[in-house]
Amino acid sequence: MKDSARSREGEVRCLNCFARFRPAARAERAACPACHVEWRISWPYPSTAKIRGPVWDKYPGREART
Ligand SMILES: [Zn+2]
Repeated sequence: MKDSARSREGEVRCLNCFARFRPAARAERAACPACHVEWRISWPYPSTAKIRGPVWDKYPGREART
């Protein structure tokens, strides 16, 4: 149990497809490996990542808009 809890440190859950993934440490942005949506990441603690929101200019369907 402790091992699985520890292995989740630094992971976030994609708000688009709900896949769990681990951004690069202290990364400000990370793309979900499953659906490739890019997210803005914040780090309330050094080993705890949180998704702040989507990177809108990278969000699918927005590229065509100008
Ligand atoms: Zn995803």
